[in-house]
Amino acid sequence: MENLKTLSMVALIGEPNSGKSTLLNKIAGLPLAVTSDLAGTTRDRQYAKVSWNNQEFLLIDTAGFMPDTENELEINIQKQIDKAFEEANILILVVDGKAPKASLNLATIKKIRKIKKPIFLVINKTDSVKKIQEFKNQFQSLGIKPSFAVSALTGNGIGDLLDAVTETLKTLQPGYTHNTSDSINISIVGKPNVGKSSLFNALLKEERVVVSATPGTTRTAIDSELVWEDQSYTFIDTAGLKKKAYRQTQSDTYSGYQTFKAIRRSDVVVLVVEATSEITTQDKKLAALILSMEKGLVIVVNKLDLYQGSLKALRDYVSVHFPQAWMCPLIFISANKNIGTEELLGVLKPIYNTRGKVIAPETLNQFLKNILQNAPPKRLKDQKTPKVFSLSQIASHPPTFELKVNHPAAIAPHFKKALENAIIRELDFYGTPIVIKLKGKE
Ligand code: GDP
Repeated sequence: MENLKTLSMVALIGEPNSGKSTLLNKIAGLPLAVTSDLAGTTRDRQYAKVSWNNQEFLLIDTAGFMPDTENELEINIQKQIDKAFEEANILILVVDGKAPKASLNLATIKKIRKIKKPIFLVINKTDSVKKIQEFKNQFQSLGIKPSFAVSALTGNGIGDLLDAVTETLKTLQPGYTHNTSDSINISIVGKPNVGKSSLFNALLKEERVVVSATPGTTRTAIDSELVWEDQSYTFIDTAGLKKKAYRQTQSDTYSGYQTFKAIRRSDVVVLVVEATSEITTQDKKLAALILSMEKGLVIVVNKLDLYQGSLKALRDYVSVHFPQAWMCPLIFISANKNIGTEELLGVLKPIYNTRGKVIAPETLNQFLKNILQNAPPKRLKDQKTPKVFSLSQIASHPPTFELKVNHPAAIAPHFKKALENAIIRELDFYGTPIVIKLKGKE
């Protein structure tokens, strides 16, 4: 079975006010772009998981990932390009079709041309055919094509853009391939001061942990490798896990791009919250990001030593705040008192193995039969009667299934979600999200 590559990434770049964020939100809201429904992310989305033409990718607003301490105008395109360019598979340069092109200076254009990645030009906000053609000609002469005229506001032209994006993605090698080394990639993420570095240090001090002396096996100097019960784990450093001095601003370590990149490279992500303070929207957003990036997830509640109430109340409180992570382990620890660290180490490998698990076709057939008997998809308004033909597993890491149907648009999102949950529950995929792709007959 093929190990799935890490989700492709498409980055929006452009001047402030060119319409990146409107475009992102518009695409996320398209009925056909089946994006995951993420709590609290509708307003200030930085990313959306898009599925178009049966091709999934993460669409990110690079400027949205920049530290918010910076003046928005300083978040110039060049910086966005620097950030996006390492990671993204495709760049989409959004220009304001109503504003003069002077906003893009020569240095920017030079930089864009040097990037050996597909760059799509999107001309936003104008209906003037003449103006659109002018833009297209200008940018084409600078070496940037293909181009699309869209209205991020009304959605005009977006379908063509997404068709072109998915066509191109099919022909590309993904930026990061799945971790094929024997080591399991882990990152520890969470708000500042919840105890991420303390946890990391506690893990290193864990009696039976061997810290690997062969740094050559890790990908970057700041990754740390440790061995526990004959399994090697690579802990990806998320900007300052190890050294306080390296800490960056709150937004950069937390919601920032560093975290995003670390999650992207991980097999399993450890999300740390603390028993002594409330779970915030930021925590929920981070959990949603991890799940939509299709990573294994463990929620760790730290500082248990400072907590006075009942464990059951705490468990209920945390569970209620992460409903999407219902399939993920919840572990209570005290990094300082070294409570629970072994339990945490103990769940990482099982989650990794689950992500690599392959279900026998007969089992899937039987499973689908039961589902269709007990809870078949309901017919949607103005759609054909839904028909489901088969369910097969097409990849692992993350576990990915293909559901053959008569017509993808006829399948209610509710049915798909229920099927997803049933696969996790009944075929035992605890600890990781799974992916279902709808495949039409045509
Ligand atoms: P980070 O910003 O998430 O890496 O957090 P740190 O690891 O730097 O911890 C922040 C503060 O919380 C430090 O003062 C730690 O000593 C304290 N801390 C971390 N874990 C625990 C714990 O389990 N119990 C208690 N009482 N304090 C902790």
